[in-house]
Amino acid sequence: MPSTAHHDVTCPFCGLLCDDLTVVSDADQLTVSGGGCARSDAGFDAPAGPAEPLVDGGPASLHDAVARAAGILRAAALPLYGGLGTDVAGMRAVLALADRTGGVLDHMHGESTLHNVLAMQDAGWMITTLTEVRNRADVLVLAGTDATGRIPRFFERLVWNPETLFGQSTAAREIVYLGTGLDTSAGHAPDGRPPTVVPCERARLGEVAAVLRALLAGRPLRRASLGGVALEELAGLAARLQAARYGVLAWSAADLDGAHADLTVQALAELVRELNRTTRWAGLPLGGEDGATTAAQVCTWQSGYPLRVGFGRGYPDYDPWRHATGALLASGTADALLWISAFDREAAPPAAGPPTIVLGRPGMAFARPPAVYIPVGTPGLDHAGQLCRMDSVVTLPLRALRATGLPSVADVLDAIRREL
Ligand code: SF4
Repeated sequence: MPSTAHHDVTCPFCGLLCDDLTVVSDADQLTVSGGGCARSDAGFDAPAGPAEPLVDGGPASLHDAVARAAGILRAAALPLYGGLGTDVAGMRAVLALADRTGGVLDHMHGESTLHNVLAMQDAGWMITTLTEVRNRADVLVLAGTDATGRIPRFFERLVWNPETLFGQSTAAREIVYLGTGLDTSAGHAPDGRPPTVVPCERARLGEVAAVLRALLAGRPLRRASLGGVALEELAGLAARLQAARYGVLAWSAADLDGAHADLTVQALAELVRELNRTTRWAGLPLGGEDGATTAAQVCTWQSGYPLRVGFGRGYPDYDPWRHATGALLASGTADALLWISAFDREAAPPAAGPPTIVLGRPGMAFARPPAVYIPVGTPGLDHAGQLCRMDSVVTLPLRALRATGLPSVADVLDAIRREL
């Protein structure tokens, strides 16, 4: 069969969901030939097999693997549905299965997602969309993140884009990094103009945000420096932020330090609120890897709550601490684990825990062989689907680029549910 070039392909491998890739399919092999990045290249290039399910480490038919998985879930008092790296249809199916079995749902990036959710629930926030950033931002502050480590094409697609809807010259955009140890190379403007780097200690970002807010409000401050940065420098930064016409303050909760990173997020959101007294600013939480935004969105629109939700009481029960994967496995409360990772074959389930069922990309390696491993297709490569972009305002369609015969997560979960 001759190779085929697929144009305007949507990439499912990070929350940006770039929709301009060219991918060549040659039988089962996919190669990105235009518009990608190192992350997408690795994602599309990964082999499509082996596709055979394993039960207790030995080959099994899909029918037998589904039957064994159903048996484990039937016997469990509290099954945990973790990982959740899947598309909209997969999340709908896992919610239906959790409802049927009284299970708990948590995403593999549930901890960092929670930092954002807690901050938003506690005090609200003003955030923007990727389209607004691309078309309107004149100042971009990256707090504690370089963005490109997790979203390689962030600057290419959103910051140094050659055209905007309203004729703004993106080359004049001002980039500010807050934090040490960041890769600031992508923040150089097309003409070579370097970004501003304010090397504050990343663990003290929340305090720095609070001081900037105090400076903007004209409050007297007695200290000479904070987090390794002179107050004079912070005062200069506050003035530059205030002079923006449409500023954007971005952070990645996964890059923030500490168990209470939600307080840092809240301080950043409060800084945005303060800046809006005199000009226009918005926050931009970065993330959405491994279908994290999709999992949160589908869970919210189906159950009324964000993750982490349990169905053991016969109704959706939101408890982000009691229903955390780590807590449920450490206490032994969860007596079965169904782990889903349809995008990343490196994202294996925790090594220790109860009997485990894995629905994952072919070729996953395990520290402890799961009771059941069913290789599944990747949405956007092996089957069609939909994913929610990281700003939660767009759901993008994904196409099938090859015919591997691998089942989707939704197919397998629906089969398990019928077997119960
Ligand atoms: S930046 Fe993200 S969505 Fe875009 S091509 Fe790279 S991995 Fe894919």
